[in-house]
Amino acid sequence: QVKAAGRNAWMFFESRMNDEVRIRHRLETDLRLALERGEFQLHYQPQFDVDGDEVIAWEALLRWQHPLHGWIEPADFIPVAEDIGLILPLGEWVLEAACREAVKWTDQRYGNERVAVNVSARQLEQGDLAGIVARILRETGLAPGRLELELTESALMSNTPRVQQTLRDLKALGVHLTLDDFGTGYSSLAYLSTFTVDRLKIDRSFMRDIENKPNNAAIILAVVALAKALGMEVVAEGVETLQQRAFLVGSGCLKAQGFLYARPMPAGSVAAFMPARQ
Ligand code: C2E
Ligand code: MG
Ligand code: MG
Ligand code: MG
Repeated sequence: QVKAAGRNAWMFFESRMNDEVRIRHRLETDLRLALERGEFQLHYQPQFDVDGDEVIAWEALLRWQHPLHGWIEPADFIPVAEDIGLILPLGEWVLEAACREAVKWTDQRYGNERVAVNVSARQLEQGDLAGIVARILRETGLAPGRLELELTESALMSNTPRVQQTLRDLKALGVHLTLDDFGTGYSSLAYLSTFTVDRLKIDRSFMRDIENKPNNAAIILAVVALAKALGMEVVAEGVETLQQRAFLVGSGCLKAQGFLYARPMPAGSVAAFMPARQ
């Protein structure tokens, strides 16, 4: 009897494994089709000066509307896109769409802000990122100074000659480079002295519950001081409350992003948001 139960449990386990493999396979197939079918969209979330009266940049955030499952979050499909190599064409699509959109803001005279695009480690390591960015800037006519690339610590960690060369080429184009989610990777501060990154974005996990977590508050103060000492700008993400904002003002962090200021919005809402602000 024990044997039979064990056997059933094993069969159950095996069929669940098969389900997971099937679901994953389906996701991969759907993702590949999604690019061709135009199921991706970019939403934009503004970055403000900490007082909230001036928009400095708009971060492009990828959204996927699955025909059956509805909206799927980037956290649920970007790692898969990275695994199957789709992040290269997808990342290129994001860059191009964001640059095109940013040019429209100026053409329609409602903004001259930067557009910030998230770039995955794979794009830095494998693609000809600098070449792609150069082509897109040329084709869209976006001024290089209006494009900001948000890189993660993991992207910089590989630190191969190729990655270093790509970063130098991007800087030479005049594009801004930001280190996103700062403090969450397996950081070595050494790369801050070797890479030409203009800006640190403090990960939102440090903002959370700041009133009750003195360690988080201490880390924010230390990162702001570090950025200042290195001549870098610092931006806080995930600012949701007035208390967090007050803390940031006190810390000397001058730029912020978060639900307190504005949530990510579809491209069509950016125009309406701008005049309302001024
Ligand atoms: P991220 O670059 O750190 O982007 C910030 C994330 O925090 C966004 O989530 C944004 O909606 C969310 N957020 C902003 N303000 C607040 C706040 O006040 N509170 C809270 N709780 N959350 C806030 P989203 O859009 O789901 O994106 C998640 C991550 O997916 C991004 O983190 C980024 O790493 C990645 N991602 C998004 N779009 C792209 C893309 O086009 N390419 C690549 N490679 N990665 C992307
Ligand atoms: Mg980002
Ligand atoms: Mg971030
Ligand atoms: Mg983050």
